[in-house]
Amino acid sequence: MKVRVDDSCTACGLCVDTCPEVFQMGDEFAEVIADPVPPEHEDSAQQAADECPVDAIHVE
Ligand code: SF4
Repeated sequence: MKVRVDDSCTACGLCVDTCPEVFQMGDEFAEVIADPVPPEHEDSAQQAADECPVDAIHVE
């Protein structure tokens, strides 16, 4: 599983709260810090993608 954040991210911080093992806040956008996503964090990474208010997280 791989995740990607696009530039529609509003830096709300929700994904970082939901899954800090995979997302951290960068200067402008959330950044992916685990690529690929470790299997044990796939559920929370998927949850972060599902809950992103602007659908900026893409699961590949
Ligand atoms: S939840 Fe979505 S909008 Fe919020 S910081 Fe994460 S990627 Fe950006």
